[in-house]
Amino acid sequence: MPQFEHHYADQLPGFYTALQPTPLKGARLLYHSESLAQELGLDESLFGADHREYWCGEKFFPGMLPVAQVYSGHQFGVWAGQLGDGRGILLGEQVLPGGKRADWHLKGAGLTPYSRMGDGRAVLRSVVREFLASEALHHLSIPTTRALTIATSDEPVFREQPERGAMLIRVAESHIRFGHFEHFYYRKQPEQVKQLADYVIAHHWPELLESEPVESSRYQRWFTEVVGRTASLMAQWQSVGFAHGVMNTDNMSILGLTIDYGPFGFLDDYQPGYICNHSDHQGRYSYDNQPAVAYWNLHRLAQTLSGLMTTEQLQTALGEYEPALMKAYGTLMRGKLGFFTENKLDNDLLTGLLSLMAKEGRDFTQTFRLLSQTEQQQATSPLRDEFIDRAAFDSWYQAYRQRLLTEEVADATRQEAMKQRNPRIILRNYLAQQAIERAEKDDISALTQLHQALRDPYSDAPQYDAMAALPPDWGKHLEISCSS
Ligand code: AMP
Ligand code: MG
Repeated sequence: MPQFEHHYADQLPGFYTALQPTPLKGARLLYHSESLAQELGLDESLFGADHREYWCGEKFFPGMLPVAQVYSGHQFGVWAGQLGDGRGILLGEQVLPGGKRADWHLKGAGLTPYSRMGDGRAVLRSVVREFLASEALHHLSIPTTRALTIATSDEPVFREQPERGAMLIRVAESHIRFGHFEHFYYRKQPEQVKQLADYVIAHHWPELLESEPVESSRYQRWFTEVVGRTASLMAQWQSVGFAHGVMNTDNMSILGLTIDYGPFGFLDDYQPGYICNHSDHQGRYSYDNQPAVAYWNLHRLAQTLSGLMTTEQLQTALGEYEPALMKAYGTLMRGKLGFFTENKLDNDLLTGLLSLMAKEGRDFTQTFRLLSQTEQQQATSPLRDEFIDRAAFDSWYQAYRQRLLTEEVADATRQEAMKQRNPRIILRNYLAQQAIERAEKDDISALTQLHQALRDPYSDAPQYDAMAALPPDWGKHLEISCSS
């Protein structure tokens, strides 16, 4: 049996409401991640029929203490006031075999004091999407909450139409958000803001307690780390073509994790202004706006920390954002282009390729994957036939080839490195949709296959050919419902 603690509940009274999940009728375990279970030291027998209740919010492992966290946030740039876990419940913190701890969070767990107009539920469609997306990002080495189980039920949950109610257990080092800090700052409770910062440092950056004995320098060091992690996360999202879709401050993790998957989307055709959230009429959360929005969100967080640091300290930390973003993005994109060294021409080569891709609507993932097959002695590129404007492509390719030749790296070495940076398999919307449609009929075969492929995103194995293919036309234009 896994063992749980509840430091959040013990050390942060006033930051939550203790309550029980509301079970779903006829709830049962539909699917679980065997690999995550293994990492968490959970025996496979725990996922058998006689342990059903644990995955459906009906029974608790030793030490669990269910609570709904309170937080606030800025939604679409506007202060929204109190939000909180409206349908999620923090079950407890698992003590991991190595001594670390991991939050278990049950999503779709029923009404809480923070449900506002919502029903406290999640539908199977959105739970499957979150499960697959968080697995996809994790296996692309992008920090994210993880997904352990999907429970399904016979209870209808009403969105645009009746759907199946479901629950997801997700696991993360912490579920604390920028919005937690905003909540207490706007309530004029500076003591609680300090308490929360101290809690986050003690639990997630304990090394700072020793290395930075002076409080204000410790806070500055810590906030600089948050800025750096957020910048790095943005660079990583951009590098795989991931658009989150709802980057409100309540969906920003203090640890720099991807959290709260809703109407997210991976780019098919490269469209810099891609908007995956159909309620985002202004395009605030478009793909190319994500780094700027994260910076705006960090300013909202900075404001809440004004009682802990001077304005100058906060500004110094915020000043680290752009250089950290550019450095991380440069490293990732140079890797995708197959460069081992830095050269001042690299940025022009990158923007040159991206603008050709944008002009012709080339698939983001496949273009970089095909580029990985480049042989530097060859005057023609494996990509050439993908472009209509051959002259423009040839001129870009000549410059690219010259750049490759400056490195004196063998083709095989570079191709191998590029393949590890240019995934072949991403979670395309239509793939998720196919898995969902089958899961709604209790058939987990497509979900299982897709999950397996997403755990192996750089593989050339023929069994993944169908999932690595370009999306069919209908698959590119799927309208994903935002109500989850
Ligand atoms: P999101 O932007 O989807 O992460 O959610 C914003 C806020 O709405 C959070 O406080 C959620 O807990 C809450 N929320 C979303 N869906 C529901 C629902 N079906 N019932 C209750 N609260 C919800
Ligand atoms: Mg949220």
